[in-house]
Amino acid sequence: MADLKKTIIRSGLETLYFSGLHHLMRPLVGGVGVILTLHHVRPARRDAFQPNRLLEVTPVFFERLLRRLKRSGLDVVSPDEMHRRFITGEFKRRFVCLTFDDGYKDIKQWAWPLLRKYEMPFAVYIATSFPDRLGELWWIALEAVIAQNSRIGLLIDGKEQFFDSRTVKEKRELYDAIYGYLRSMKTEDQLRSVVRDLCACYKVDVVSFCRELCMDWQEIGEMAADPLVTIGAHTVNHKMLKKVPDDGAARAEMEMSRSVIEAALGKRPEHLAYPVGDPTSAGPREFRIAAELGFKTAVTTRPGVLFKAHRDHLTALPRISVNGEFQQQRYLKVLMSGAGTAFWNGFRRVNAA
Ligand SMILES: [Zn+2]
Repeated sequence: MADLKKTIIRSGLETLYFSGLHHLMRPLVGGVGVILTLHHVRPARRDAFQPNRLLEVTPVFFERLLRRLKRSGLDVVSPDEMHRRFITGEFKRRFVCLTFDDGYKDIKQWAWPLLRKYEMPFAVYIATSFPDRLGELWWIALEAVIAQNSRIGLLIDGKEQFFDSRTVKEKRELYDAIYGYLRSMKTEDQLRSVVRDLCACYKVDVVSFCRELCMDWQEIGEMAADPLVTIGAHTVNHKMLKKVPDDGAARAEMEMSRSVIEAALGKRPEHLAYPVGDPTSAGPREFRIAAELGFKTAVTTRPGVLFKAHRDHLTALPRISVNGEFQQQRYLKVLMSGAGTAFWNGFRRVNAA
């Protein structure tokens, strides 16, 4: 058992967002710009068990970040403007592009007012099943199952195994282990069926989370009317596209989300974010399809800053995650003060394989 646990932890625990905020210093020392990834902006919760905390930052932290950006002299640009700079080769000033994945209500409530205050453009990538209220935020459903139960049974290789999840420590370890096990699965359909079974067994309503957390179409429409806001596509079902075996199905996920958004908002999205976005979720096939579909840019979560050479890889752009586990002031200090000595040796400029 211990071995199995270790294996699943090892194989899956490479987190989606392993870069801390200190990586923000990179735009100051190399490259032409950087795209930042955020998910939630909301006040901190007190719960001790918050395995998805890396996906959120507080409004206070977020405002501090915006203030620093303002003072830094970097241009904060929309995805369209970023695209224009790549196409025209205009790189005199370094830029930052702010992006939010999934379309959470807290972005509208907490981040949007601050972005308006600082007059900064930004992108929100919508997985259309979320406002359609059919989406499965499986990573949050898994959190709920473990939070609400002190013992979890899970079918592994056809055998039911039981795990204690009484203490916060046990819950954390179990979350990491099951998360890793799920991420190591060959297809996302397998992953979803395990989570659905868990939810059915432990009476967690898997689609309740998109109702609770994600903007509906009216809310998205309100944001889309703001010239600062770019609404981008994030597929229909938020699947790790590389794990979708059928090329046509992967293509349809990207294409349909764009059509659904266009139908709902009257404006065709020209930018895309791959769900999850790490190398196990988006690779050369996805980069090619996004280019064929005519998206101006498509973003991954592969960590990195932007170089001129990304002009030839506009559907495989790296981003830097603003990670909620690293939101202390000292990281921001490192960010601004350590820039001169922080040159990252051996950095591969383009990573699109
Ligand atoms: Zn997402």
